[in-house]
Amino acid sequence: MLSIRSTVLIAIAAAVLAPTLILWHLEQRLTREAQQPLIEQNRQAVLLMTSNALVEPMWSLDDVQMRRVAQRALDNPSVLSLRLTERRPLAEPTVLARAQQAPFSGVPLKTTILHEGATLGELELWFDPGQIDRLLAERRQATIELAALQVLLSVLLLLGVLYRRLLAPIRRLKRQASQIASRADLKPVRWDRRDELGQLGAHLNDVHQQIDALFDQLEAQKAELEKIALHDSLTGLPNRALFSALTQAAVAAAARDGGRLALLFIDVDRFKSVNDTLGHAAGDHLLATLAARLRSAVRASDVVCRHSGDEFIVLLHDGDAWDEVASTADRLLKEMERPVSVDGREVAVSASIGVALYPDDASDPETLVRHADTAMYAAKHLGRARVSFFRAEFNAQLQTSLQLERELRRALAKGEFVLHYQPQVDAVSGALLGCEALVRWQHPGRGMVPPLEFIAAAEHCGLISELGAWTIRSACAQIARWKASGMAFGSVAVNVSALEFRNHRLLDTLTRAMADFGVQPHELEIELTESVLMTDTQTTRRIVENLRGLGLPLAVDDFGTGYSSLAYLKHLRPSKVKIDRSFVTGLPGDEDDRVLVQAIVQLAGALGIRVVAEGVETVAQRDFLHRIGCSALQGFLISRPQPAEGIEAFVRQNAGAEAPLLTMI
Ligand code: C2E
Ligand code: CA
Ligand code: CA
Repeated sequence: MLSIRSTVLIAIAAAVLAPTLILWHLEQRLTREAQQPLIEQNRQAVLLMTSNALVEPMWSLDDVQMRRVAQRALDNPSVLSLRLTERRPLAEPTVLARAQQAPFSGVPLKTTILHEGATLGELELWFDPGQIDRLLAERRQATIELAALQVLLSVLLLLGVLYRRLLAPIRRLKRQASQIASRADLKPVRWDRRDELGQLGAHLNDVHQQIDALFDQLEAQKAELEKIALHDSLTGLPNRALFSALTQAAVAAAARDGGRLALLFIDVDRFKSVNDTLGHAAGDHLLATLAARLRSAVRASDVVCRHSGDEFIVLLHDGDAWDEVASTADRLLKEMERPVSVDGREVAVSASIGVALYPDDASDPETLVRHADTAMYAAKHLGRARVSFFRAEFNAQLQTSLQLERELRRALAKGEFVLHYQPQVDAVSGALLGCEALVRWQHPGRGMVPPLEFIAAAEHCGLISELGAWTIRSACAQIARWKASGMAFGSVAVNVSALEFRNHRLLDTLTRAMADFGVQPHELEIELTESVLMTDTQTTRRIVENLRGLGLPLAVDDFGTGYSSLAYLKHLRPSKVKIDRSFVTGLPGDEDDRVLVQAIVQLAGALGIRVVAEGVETVAQRDFLHRIGCSALQGFLISRPQPAEGIEAFVRQNAGAEAPLLTMI
């Protein structure tokens, strides 16, 4: 593709040259056609004049004059040669004159010389045949010079105009456009001319400005987006992404310089309850305040980030002195514990901090964070509001408990839990009084897992309320089925763990389950361990009152293991106590157990509370218990815990058997 410049130059050359050439050619032809007759006429005139001038001297035979006339004719540049021949009647023709400038050649023009009708002679003239060509050649030369001059002038003029008005501005425009494209930081180009290219240039200036403004806007937006992407919007602290980049850089620098780092993993204790009781806005305000305190409690060179929800991470660059790190961590704990004013209320929280050191505990950022997290968990386990330094053995413990928690979650989702039921029978008649629902985990790999292996873990990870709700609903569903089949099952006791007991949702779960399955209050029983009932009496009393409000009987489980205070029996008035298996095992041989169990039975009897002995395995135990007045029994002797169908079979067998359970009184 040709450039504009070359195209325009070629166009100019063609536009100027072509007409000139055509004109020149036409002019040559026309000139020849116009000149030819003129030359002919001129020759005829020369011939005529010469012949007329010869009449007289030929008549008078004046030789001198004749030669003079001939010479005159020859002086005419177009005449090359001349021959004059005398032709008189009855005489031989004689050549009177021959003159020449060039050899005789070609065809001459002739005329007869007459005097009063009589022939005197003949005149022949040879003319120059190249005369017209010479003439034309001269003219052509002149025309060529003229045309060349014209072409030169036109081209110069056109080029001048072209350069000034087209090529130079186009070059400026090109420069301007490439400045815009390369985003060179230059001033707008001045355009004085008002023609189209000038307007285009001015337009480009506008475009340049607009593009600059757009780019500035984009840069600002990019910076803003980067800030948003790298900072937490609530606290303004670096987020995880930025933190991991900063930690990576810090670890790399420490590795290079042989420096040390301390990573503090900080978790706000019981933040969820702040959120639940005061609302999310208050929770946010609390977090923002804590974040600001953390930030101002460490040096500017240290990194503070929000890891997630209520977790913060602080990276200290002065991990040199262990005790210095410990005192910084203690200072942070105190900062976190200072009350925060939320909606006019003073809210105080605590925090648990886990510390991992570089390079002592880990050599890469991920492991460092993981170890600090593990240490933080350890701090929580030790009772919260404290600092824990990472120790290798934390990891193994945490791994097993984390694994168990994951599996529990899955088990709940997949319905891997089942309830087994263990009968409680009348000590005399052996009649079924009720049964205790005991949860089991049907683990796909490990088989039937007993509750003692997972209840604590479920409590720890907060799954206990979900598991408890499942247990309550399953027990109620079973009650409904047994009622529908007309089976006399008495009542079903459900174990409620300490954490579940304090969960405000327990009441709701019970109410809903009872309503959904049409369960009457006397058909269900709540078993609470003695330790639960003895702590935090105010709250305990309130919760117990609420349960009693539903009409549900309460049984005190594992009775005797926490007998330091029996006063609660007076306040809480359970309907049943269950003598712990550990006292029954030693019966009837162990003196202490005998005395203790007897005392429990008497005490309960005096307060009008029924007694069930747990873990009855032998006939001797059963007989002793009966003898001292314990009215109900539960244990392997009567039946192991078994699936619901097992209880149905147990009831059928008992109904068939005439003989009472007790043979000896
Ligand atoms: P617990 O409430 O004291 O339950 C009685 C435990 O003693 C049951 O163990 C039962 O199988 C066992 N047992 C009953 N009779 C005998 C006997 O004659 N000899 C012996 N050696 N053991 C006997 P299990 O089912 O392993 O339950 C253990 C504990 O797990 C329960 O103690 C209870 O504290 C807890 N638990 C069981 N199910 C649940 C539940 O659904 N929710 C809650 N929160 N805890 C539960
Ligand atoms: Ca129990
Ligand atoms: Ca028990």
